[in-house]
Amino acid sequence: MRYVSTRNSGHSVTSAQAILTGLAPDGGLYVPERIPQLDLSKLQGASYGEVALAVLELFLPDYHREFLQQAIHASYETRFEGKAGQLEKIRDGLFSLELWHGPTAAFKDYALQLMPHLLVEARRMLGEQNETMILVATSGDTGKAALEGYKDLPGIRIATFYPTGGTSEIQRLQMATQEGENVAVYAVRGNFDDAQRGVKTAFCDEQLAATLADKGIKLSSANSINWGRLVPQIIYYASTYLQLCHRGEIAMGDKVDFCVPTGNFGDIMAGYYAMGMGVPVGRLICASNSNNVLADFLATGRYNANRDFLKTSSPSMDILVSSNLERLLFHACGNSEQVNQWMTQLAQKGEYQVDEQTLGKIQAVFSGGWADEQQVGEEISQIWKQNQYLCDPHTAVAFQVWRRQPQGAKAGVVLSTASPYKFSGKVLESLGVAVPENEFEALTALEQATATKAPVSLTGLKNKKIRFTEIIDAEEIPRIPLR
Ligand SMILES: *Cc1c(COP(=O)(O)O)cnc(C)c1O
Repeated sequence: MRYVSTRNSGHSVTSAQAILTGLAPDGGLYVPERIPQLDLSKLQGASYGEVALAVLELFLPDYHREFLQQAIHASYETRFEGKAGQLEKIRDGLFSLELWHGPTAAFKDYALQLMPHLLVEARRMLGEQNETMILVATSGDTGKAALEGYKDLPGIRIATFYPTGGTSEIQRLQMATQEGENVAVYAVRGNFDDAQRGVKTAFCDEQLAATLADKGIKLSSANSINWGRLVPQIIYYASTYLQLCHRGEIAMGDKVDFCVPTGNFGDIMAGYYAMGMGVPVGRLICASNSNNVLADFLATGRYNANRDFLKTSSPSMDILVSSNLERLLFHACGNSEQVNQWMTQLAQKGEYQVDEQTLGKIQAVFSGGWADEQQVGEEISQIWKQNQYLCDPHTAVAFQVWRRQPQGAKAGVVLSTASPYKFSGKVLESLGVAVPENEFEALTALEQATATKAPVSLTGLKNKKIRFTEIIDAEEIPRIPLR
């Protein structure tokens, strides 16, 4: 089983190489040359870890089984409070897959707990001698999840950069109090784009690369185009399907629809791979916020990123160029030269149009929809009043889009991507409760208003030691790896 580049299917590598290098040399993303088949009948009643092993063995054949077992144990069996793949019933036919019971209370933990183990093992298997230095620009969730995933792993150092004043106070504290010997956190004067530009400059700086090479250091990123971040997300689609069967909600073979709050298209793309593996998926519903590029694309086949970037209450979905869509284009049209052309048009003109046949293949599986800020607030309130279910703004986008879909499959699953307590301000406001200025008071207010509990990983921040206070200019970012 090898991985090919979406922009040149003649170029192929092993899974360990794909994970170590991230991006293909031609700028394409690595995709499996064929999608392996999962035998669901053998997994009835299986634990999350057992499903994880079955999926990962098929996609990562160059990794040893014992290694995968250990990595799965270290990630999903110890760091998710026994709630990996937690599925809550909202009402008949509708379920919430709660992906936020990990250490940072957002779904990125699923990828960023496991992937660091895959990377360390890839380094070992491929004989990589250099130290890997990971640089992450973050608007909040990714940075913290990456710090938690990579802390204290051998051969790795990680530095994250967040905009001063650009994250919530909780997100800032999550990073400023980060533990681990190989981690560093910097606040950057400016906004997220400034931080990201600084990191990109560091990656493109050949002089820096040469100086670092002399010191035995190689730069790497933790962003979501790496196959090692996508593959862990396939697991929970299979696990959800098996749970629905096990609980008698569906019979083996019935179709299930998944509605996914989408930004970079990684999470929903994992659903496409699960479907390709034989999980009976009905439709994959791509839910966007007011940055509705994907909803337009799925309706028309025209991807147009030339529009205003809107800041919303679901910041992790505020994105105009969804990188992982490239993987879907490749599988739908099967022609890497064609994908290359579209991606060149996107880079040069900010838009491209796919042909009728490719669009037809995509529309046979995917639907799109979007929700504006007012609808998100109304959804948080409505689902609380009707079903006593508390959800964060990202998840609310998906519930709102779900409401407006024609109901087809026997069961529908909304992927819930963040704890409502990570966005307590917007949630309190939507419920009509006054929002305290202090974030810890806001957590308490939300607990009292809803008789639910905030994750300990968030309330516990109050008593943690602040380790990182340095504020730098974006121009200084390229010098950080030399320290
Ligand atoms: C990253 C993120 C998303 C979007 O996931 P993609 O894989 O980028 O589509 C949705 N919700 C939350 C809370 C996230 O952190």
